[in-house]
Amino acid sequence: MPNCAQYDKLPSLQPLLFNPCCYTCQDYTWALGKKEIAAVKPELVVFSDRNSRNFQCGLPLSCSYMLNFDNTQMAKRVFSGFRPTGKQHIGNYLGTIQNCVSLQADYDCVYCVVDIHALTTLESTEALQEDVYEMVLDWLAAGIDPQKSIIFVQSHVPQVEELHTLFSMLTPLSWLLRVPTFKEKVKMQPQNVNYGLVGYPVLMTADIALYKGEVVPVGEDQLPHLELAREIVRRFNSLYGFVFPEPQAKLTSFPLVAGLDGVQKMSKSYNNHIEIAASPEEIMTRVRTGFTDPARRYRSDPGHPEACNIFALHKFFTPARVEEIASECRHASIGCVDCKKILARSISSALEPFREKRAVFVAKPNYVTEVLAEGANRAQAIAEETIKEAKEKMKLPRRVNLGDIRE
Ligand code: SF4
Repeated sequence: MPNCAQYDKLPSLQPLLFNPCCYTCQDYTWALGKKEIAAVKPELVVFSDRNSRNFQCGLPLSCSYMLNFDNTQMAKRVFSGFRPTGKQHIGNYLGTIQNCVSLQADYDCVYCVVDIHALTTLESTEALQEDVYEMVLDWLAAGIDPQKSIIFVQSHVPQVEELHTLFSMLTPLSWLLRVPTFKEKVKMQPQNVNYGLVGYPVLMTADIALYKGEVVPVGEDQLPHLELAREIVRRFNSLYGFVFPEPQAKLTSFPLVAGLDGVQKMSKSYNNHIEIAASPEEIMTRVRTGFTDPARRYRSDPGHPEACNIFALHKFFTPARVEEIASECRHASIGCVDCKKILARSISSALEPFREKRAVFVAKPNYVTEVLAEGANRAQAIAEETIKEAKEKMKLPRRVNLGDIRE
């Protein structure tokens, strides 16, 4: 490994984007006041997986080099957390999952199953393990790639609980009590207003900050939560010194997918959903139950596609024929039964590649477990560094190993 003097003589430095948490480089990072640093000759890097920012480059880099390097190409880190809800439905797929898949092209993504958050509202944890498994299986089959993204379970990385505690010491209670979702939850479950409900935004902030998440995909309704997370990390940084980037919102317009009942949005709790893992027969059965235009009572009545949620689903799954179907509906030249058959076939054919991939993963019984174990290892490596950095900045007394002070 070259030392500084040798390094100065190395020809043509090539940009390589890498880890702000690297042991060797973090002091330089701090000195520069930047969280992204540098470039080195790629062949000199011991470990340089772009998805794992926790590697040892092993190089005694010089700041003068780092200052000259272009770090603008470094992918920003996205953090997203999802409650474990078991098998996913087409509303999840069209909204969240497709977005997660496409973000992988431009960002360093960290996707977390937030099982601890789920405890704030769960009445029973019996199905928790299976729900995590089924949800992650669906994610993987839908294209969330463990080679590109870190996929893990929140409780597998206990440092999040530590950071949650540290953040809770600097978060005024008044900030939390005014959060609209806390007030809603109090109304929804007055028999179970637990501490976790109040502290939810603090734990959410710890989730993001632990992995130094820079970008968080959110719908407009979640903006107040993210603003609170930004306030908490800002407060930490101003009290103790910079550790955490302020996460930026990536405003995402998640399509509102209507449920088959035609009243609520698609959700398992309303039993108005179609699972993405459903077989063609199951899809047909579910679509058949779907409500249509309530004003169209007989086959000969002209329909109003804009008032029909079957038609709303055609927009997603039968886009090429949507005008034709609308016209046929308005002129009563197609009946609802046939219209539903077309929709069921469209959904089924759109999800066929997903079903095939899912079947391959199901045939490997340990696959999901391995993905989550690997994800937890990668996430924990980042988390340990972040916690260490945060505690040092807070000047918490260091734990000393007995072996280091005894003769
Ligand atoms: S024909 Fe299709 S779009 Fe028209 S009301 Fe029936 S199901 Fe809805």
